[in-house]
Amino acid sequence: MSSEEPTASCSGHCSDCASQSEDCQLNLVLGAIRHKIVVMSGKGGVGKSTVAANLAAALAADGRKVGLLDVDLHGPSIPAMLGLDHVELQQTENGKIIPPEVGNLKVMSVGFVLENSDQAVIWRGPAKIGVIKQFLSEIEWGELDCLVVDCPPGTGDEPLTVCQLLPNADGAVVVTTPQRVAADDVSKSLDFCSQLGFRVLGIVENMSCFVCPKCGEITDIFSSGAGERLAEKFHVPFLGKLPIDPAVCRAGDTGRPFVEYDRESPAARAFEGVLAVLRKLF
Ligand code: ADP
Repeated sequence: MSSEEPTASCSGHCSDCASQSEDCQLNLVLGAIRHKIVVMSGKGGVGKSTVAANLAAALAADGRKVGLLDVDLHGPSIPAMLGLDHVELQQTENGKIIPPEVGNLKVMSVGFVLENSDQAVIWRGPAKIGVIKQFLSEIEWGELDCLVVDCPPGTGDEPLTVCQLLPNADGAVVVTTPQRVAADDVSKSLDFCSQLGFRVLGIVENMSCFVCPKCGEITDIFSSGAGERLAEKFHVPFLGKLPIDPAVCRAGDTGRPFVEYDRESPAARAFEGVLAVLRKLF
């Protein structure tokens, strides 16, 4: 079966398609998820996981059923960012993994299966592809309004697998910072999407400026404008700028999304603009 929709009779283990039961299972899972958004960047450390976690948390806070899948297999930071670094995974009777929940946000990350947070994951491409497939098909996601997928930086196995497994996704949110070295790498992510025919929902420029908490003066520490220039060059929407904000770092380090940690912080207020565009998808 190659289409994304399962047949009406398909239970994922039906006799007429037993040889493809994994694909059937995947199709069933994906069929129950209305929207899929992939968060990616060509560069690490630009705030991609921060954007993914806060996008998912904000959509869940709206009352939507949301899933957040962390496929950053070598550097999973989602568990720590959401205060889930010590959870033990539970299984359903039929052996499916129950994703830990924060409010109505279901989360899955390779971080949940590591023995400790220092453990390195040393996997080659085929193993990574298999794990991502399992994370989609063998997790009890149930019915979701939206699944947000947090990819590792670059254009390697993980984002490629995600884009191939989610051909009907709404698209990608691409995160950059203003420096030229970041923007140059992020342009590769945009080219990657273009080559795959994967829609880009828009670009977020993170760490765009610093707003002085005392006097409100705005300083462009890493310069500014790279996100808008990339958006223009690749003919994709620009979603907005997020400032460097100590509240973002504090929130992440204490395991809470910044959108709920301090709603009045400069970053939370700026993120509302990004959310306003993405909420229109629903
Ligand atoms: P990536 O996923 O791109 O590697 P992360 O989301 O893990 O990046 O962010 C890296 C670090 O930068 C984290 O400690 C995070 O809290 C911090 N950070 C991200 N965005 C901001 C911001 N706008 N202001 C302050 N700190 C930020």
